[in-house]
Amino acid sequence: MSERIDELRRSLAAVRERIDAACAAAGRDPGEVRLLAVTKTFPASDVAALIDIGLRDFAENKDQEGRGKAAEVAELRPGVPVRWHMVGRLQRNKARSVVRWADEVQSVDSARLADALAKAVTTSRERGERDGPLDVQLQVSMDGDATRGGCPVDQVLQLVDHVTRLGEISVRGLMTVAPRDADENETFARLAALFERLRRDHVGLVELSAGMSGDLERGIAHGSTCVRVGTALLGGRELASLE
Ligand SMILES: *Cc1c(COP(=O)(O)O)cnc(C)c1O
Repeated sequence: MSERIDELRRSLAAVRERIDAACAAAGRDPGEVRLLAVTKTFPASDVAALIDIGLRDFAENKDQEGRGKAAEVAELRPGVPVRWHMVGRLQRNKARSVVRWADEVQSVDSARLADALAKAVTTSRERGERDGPLDVQLQVSMDGDATRGGCPVDQVLQLVDHVTRLGEISVRGLMTVAPRDADENETFARLAALFERLRRDHVGLVELSAGMSGDLERGIAHGSTCVRVGTALLGGRELASLE
């Protein structure tokens, strides 16, 4: 256990160094960039260790795993204000479940999913399970490949207009996963341009979630305010769980 925490402390220091260097290169303040630890496939004990060395933002990509882990972490570190983010593809029938453990859903990619989440928040609030609206980010598919989730670029404006009208939901920004084999510089530049265009009409859009273990520097260079880091912090995962 103490070996694991030393390992995590070293990888966290290395990731922070990368973030600092990328911010320096871009002339940005590192305080503008949130670090989300993507803890999918790793145990709650790792999340507890990351809490002990200062992290508070965690992300999961599956409802069932996230729900269980969030509950375990609440028992391991009671009273610590942790923020959980859902970053994976979400079926509408999981909306009721996800709003009980996630503080933010970054993978909203359709009006129907947003509607289901809004309805779930209402129910959850009425039952005293949560208070306040749900923070969301709209996941954009930069290559239009629907199998990987995300709203196609040409439909994002319509989606923002729809979701900002839902009372129970607070739209915070845009998220993307760079397509495999894509030029991340080009992808993130297009995302940043889309973000700026949407911000003209929607001042509440403040977050740009772009950049993972392999491409966080390029995300930061293009204005990312949230990098989602799994392997560079926690180590390698089985391939099956990358999805
Ligand atoms: C797994 C995952 C990440 C983290 O990926 P790494 O390459 O391990 O840093 C980020 N975003 C999403 C949506 C993920 O599913």
